[in-house]
Amino acid sequence: MPKIAKQYLEVDPWKIIEKGFHPERAEVSESVFSLGNEFMGARGYFEEGYGGGQFIGSFFNGIFEEIDVSHAVNYKGFIRRFHFMVNSVDWLYTKIEAAGEKLDLAKSKFSKFNRELDLRTGKLVRSFVWKTKRGSIKLVFDRFTSMVQAELAYQRISFESVDFTGEIKLTMGLDFNTIHHERGVNYWNEVKKEAAGSGAAILGKTLRSGQHVYASMEIDAPGCTGKVIKSEKNISRQMSFKLKPGESKTVGKRVVNYADKSGATSAAVWKEGEKRRKALLKADFDSALKKHTGYWKKVWDELDMTIEGDPVNQQGVRFCIYQLHQTYHGVDANLNVSAKGLTGEEYGGHTWWDTETYCLPFYMFNNVKAAKNLLEYRYKTLEPAKIRAREKDCKGARYPMETIDGSESCTVWQHGDLEIHVPAAVAYGVWHYANNTGDTAFLYSHGAEMLVEISRYYASRGGWGQENGKFGFWCVMGADEFHMMVNNNCYTNFMAMKCFDYANEVLGQMQKKAPDKYKRLAKKTKLDEKEVREWKKMADNMYLPKDKKGVYEQHEGYFNMPHLDYKTIPNEDFPVYRNWAYYRIFRTDMIKQPDVLLMPFFYSHDFSDREKKINFEYYEPRCSHESSLSPGIHSILASELGKHDLAIKYWGHAARLDLDDYNNNTDAGLHTTSMAAAWMNVVYGFGGLRTDSPRLSFNPSLPKGWTKYSFRLRYKGALVVVTIDNKNVSFTRTGKDDVEVEVFGKTRKIGGKGLSVAMPKSRIGGK
Ligand code: BGC
Repeated sequence: MPKIAKQYLEVDPWKIIEKGFHPERAEVSESVFSLGNEFMGARGYFEEGYGGGQFIGSFFNGIFEEIDVSHAVNYKGFIRRFHFMVNSVDWLYTKIEAAGEKLDLAKSKFSKFNRELDLRTGKLVRSFVWKTKRGSIKLVFDRFTSMVQAELAYQRISFESVDFTGEIKLTMGLDFNTIHHERGVNYWNEVKKEAAGSGAAILGKTLRSGQHVYASMEIDAPGCTGKVIKSEKNISRQMSFKLKPGESKTVGKRVVNYADKSGATSAAVWKEGEKRRKALLKADFDSALKKHTGYWKKVWDELDMTIEGDPVNQQGVRFCIYQLHQTYHGVDANLNVSAKGLTGEEYGGHTWWDTETYCLPFYMFNNVKAAKNLLEYRYKTLEPAKIRAREKDCKGARYPMETIDGSESCTVWQHGDLEIHVPAAVAYGVWHYANNTGDTAFLYSHGAEMLVEISRYYASRGGWGQENGKFGFWCVMGADEFHMMVNNNCYTNFMAMKCFDYANEVLGQMQKKAPDKYKRLAKKTKLDEKEVREWKKMADNMYLPKDKKGVYEQHEGYFNMPHLDYKTIPNEDFPVYRNWAYYRIFRTDMIKQPDVLLMPFFYSHDFSDREKKINFEYYEPRCSHESSLSPGIHSILASELGKHDLAIKYWGHAARLDLDDYNNNTDAGLHTTSMAAAWMNVVYGFGGLRTDSPRLSFNPSLPKGWTKYSFRLRYKGALVVVTIDNKNVSFTRTGKDDVEVEVFGKTRKIGGKGLSVAMPKSRIGGK
């Protein structure tokens, strides 16, 4: 894998530290130091501005702009509208002058630069000593976005004169002049702005989608309220104060943001924004921070992972957990996790199949409500999925490749149209969730309807082979995006088969156990029992191409494709999808990400050890890992197969993908959904958890170099802590009831005093 770590941050168990400014990595750091709270997110940009190139990114989950998509030839079913997360109000807007000199770290002289994000407190602090012509000033910038009250954000700037004498001019404001970084366009109309007392507020409306963001601030500058400065799409307050050596001054800014995508009038949004501002602005920086820190403490009590013997990856995995949790923790079922979280514009702020296949387990075992909300989001967007199926001349529901509001927003038709595995991922999510939480209420009220509509889609999209009489899917793209328009992609066929089978099982169960609910569902969906029998026939006859030895063929004809060893590709050609024409990528057996290998991961018990081994050994050398979703899955399977060296090699990429910018693209935003793969890498990989049978099963290993590690799972109400060292795998649980698990193939109980099982030598990865 030609990916190289660019480690420039300090190693610390709980903090992300940039010691000394790294201008060449300025935008990478902006991504890494992003803050968020599910509702809003802000990149770690220098609020005072930076002439060396910066990406001022401030996002609100679910707030998007839209543009027309025009095609030279308008074929039926091409999307006509593209919607994307829009860069919104810069609520950190700041300008600083000292004795007439402007602060800009691209030009100003400074020393002792330090930037720290403390994962335990969720606070970002930056400090340095600014050497002005009139002496030095120590500056400290703090900020956080409240996890307790999502509309609230805080910023604080402290000035301490070392040997400076003169006047400081500080401007703090709210600015809607932010541009879409990639397109260079500002998508906001200013609707209204007002200043009163020591505060100000502004309302912006997107040019076309008509969504609103209201931002307000209250300045805390003892002894001064600041002069109001208004300019286009900006409202600010300017404070001036004098400093002498030894003197200091701290100015704070309390922010209340409110976003509306309901189509309410501007007047109504302004009114609601003002109401919230009045109600919420009371808490000052320190008391709000105390609550915010308390929130994080509780999160870490449930979510922490410890790794002894590997401090670099200890930091990496905590960073992943932190970012994932702050991006989404299930407050609002209208929101979802986007591939880059709230940290960048790439991937349009869209939700992908990543949610069900990668993120869901993280939430399912830590925050059941969040997991349920993610599935509810799919239920809420069933209607657009049905519309999309009709646009594609199919029936049922075709969940989109990329979306915010539920409609398809993938502009590359090859992906949007051909990656038909997405609805199956939603069905997989429903099954995975119901199987592990036992939430049949949700399954019967929401899940079953999704399963019916998804099955309908597959039944209408698939066909029967003329020669082999098998059911399958022609002209598709599998999970591996390096092969398009292929026939019978094995993964897609397999996942559709599982969906048909599960739909059958659930409907049968409902007929027996919840006949009224079944009747309601049948009426609502106009379900015909004949079609359910057809799905069964399709599943029973699904074509899963494989050779005589048992290696599944990724798609028909794959085995015969010209071989390309991706290791022969020069480093500078990566990422290849940027540097090579697709035309060139598609015609070899090089794959981008796991495809066949997802099957034995998602449904482990359906495959024998031998099948897992031969398929891994065939596909692993062909995978270029051009998707960040790839290394983690390889590490997980390598652990299962006892290939401990490979497991640890892939793990490093997963845990520190962004901290070390392995893919050379962290500047555009964090790989938020692949952070879930890092979490899975510990729990499902080294911890050997599998969740596709009636009880949790563990087949743990101890990676080389690690002396001990532990992780936590919330399961059926109990908090289960799993600890592994070279002697034992030990479990403890909270709650009254024993928890039944399978460890190294044997069923056991975690009782009140816990459970301890000896580690076999074969599961210890060497010194
Ligand atoms: C991967 C997709 C994934 C998307 C968003 C792409 O590079 O190939 O499988 O859904 O990124 O993470």
